[in-house]
Amino acid sequence: MLIYNSLSRKREEFIPNVPGKVNMYTCGPTVYHYAHIGNLRSYIMEDVLEKHLRYSGYDVKRVMNITDVGHLTSDADEGEDKMLKGAKREKKTVMEIAKFYTDAFFADCAKLNIKTPDVVAPATSCIDSFIEVITSLIEKGYAYEAGGNIYFDTSKLKQYYVFNDFKEDDLAVGVREGVEEDTNKKNKADFVLWFTKSKFDDQELKWDSPWGIGYPGWHIECSCISMKNLGEYLDIHCGGIDNAFPHHTNEIAQSEAYVGHKWCNYWFHVHHLNTNSGKMSKSSGEFLTVSLLESKGYDPLVYRMFCLQSHYRKSLVFSYENLDNTVIAYNKLAQRIAALIKENDTAPVNEADAETLRAGFKAALDNDLNTSLAITALYDLLKAKTNAATKLALVDEYDTVLGLDLTKAAKKLLEATKEEEKPISDDPFIAEIEAKIAERRAAKAAKDYAKADAIRKELSDKGVTLIDTPQGTTFKIN
Ligand code: AMP
Ligand code: ZN
Repeated sequence: MLIYNSLSRKREEFIPNVPGKVNMYTCGPTVYHYAHIGNLRSYIMEDVLEKHLRYSGYDVKRVMNITDVGHLTSDADEGEDKMLKGAKREKKTVMEIAKFYTDAFFADCAKLNIKTPDVVAPATSCIDSFIEVITSLIEKGYAYEAGGNIYFDTSKLKQYYVFNDFKEDDLAVGVREGVEEDTNKKNKADFVLWFTKSKFDDQELKWDSPWGIGYPGWHIECSCISMKNLGEYLDIHCGGIDNAFPHHTNEIAQSEAYVGHKWCNYWFHVHHLNTNSGKMSKSSGEFLTVSLLESKGYDPLVYRMFCLQSHYRKSLVFSYENLDNTVIAYNKLAQRIAALIKENDTAPVNEADAETLRAGFKAALDNDLNTSLAITALYDLLKAKTNAATKLALVDEYDTVLGLDLTKAAKKLLEATKEEEKPISDDPFIAEIEAKIAERRAAKAAKDYAKADAIRKELSDKGVTLIDTPQGTTFKIN
């Protein structure tokens, strides 16, 4: 498998440290608000990567943190803590909003068929290991105390800027627009490992430490949670491209200073989802969430397919017009699969055909996770000259990676048509209600939830209440 590695800026053959096993780490969400669909683009593409590795036969262990402390409004260790800001906004405690938005994040992931990592660790549950690593970094001479805080000394490294050829003078980490320079730092690029003194001293969560009561910096959490669960040798680390600097750069600095050798071999960065008006963010502009898409009648899996239609290393522009095109593409796929199921072909799977066809699908994903070509391979499969059983088996096999629930969607379509074939009632009012129920079923199958809701309302205005049951929709005349 070839994968682009941000460290070497090249596509490289993926070779894990231990043959057959993959240690994978993912930067988790900062749980001060809902995840926007840009954040979720990163998690969708990382999920496809994990599933493709598993599909390729690797035994994957994946770990993710939950940032519930330490992420400041500027990634350069300045500003207010994002969690505290969220808590103030909602007049709740930090732990209350952490719980609420962690649950909301995983609910969104479930809707998008994003698998929960094998280990999920909130930063607040790992304070002991942060203290242990920071203590060791001080002992080894990589960290110093200044003004009450502990800083990582970037001048002790042979190379600090690993992802880009930044020049230190061009990149003044501590000096950003509207942010005062932290005069405690020996070097501009130094970053905080542990805070005891911040201008924002009303931080809600604090812990005792050898350097006084305080709280960890953001970067240390990912290094420690990764090393604690995956050991000193990490195969692949994932995150959105904005995390490459300073977050991942700092993770590498402190992890390698701590273990004394190369830490992570491959860095997988997902590029951003933008809107026509620019970058999507939780704090400004239109806040697009999975729930917002659902309220507009879109199935979350259509958004997953929208992401899969583009390469993860290209920025992607979101628009409802483009999403509508994906709705059409998704429904067409479901209709074609429904037609195959209807064929009721009893011939067994043709293994030779299956082998040739899956090679195309695998090749697409082995080529730096080319998901749009993998979807083309799915279309090729549906058009291929082989029997229905082979096609249906491969649709399900591909879907273990793509996660689009295509067979499920096809079966729903078939159910909807079955219902439509029922005899029509002699009573014209009942016949009208049944026709409307059938129309609503078709609308739901086509993911046109706005139309489905309009039909429910139309019948309700006529005194008819619809009751949705797992066996179908019944009604009650009021
Ligand atoms: P956060 O919750 O802010 O810590 O971010 C969670 C993940 O989303 C990180 O991997 C970010 O790099 C990623 N991310 C942030 N904004 C975007 C975006 N517009 N498009 C794609 N990924 C993003
Ligand atoms: Zn991280």
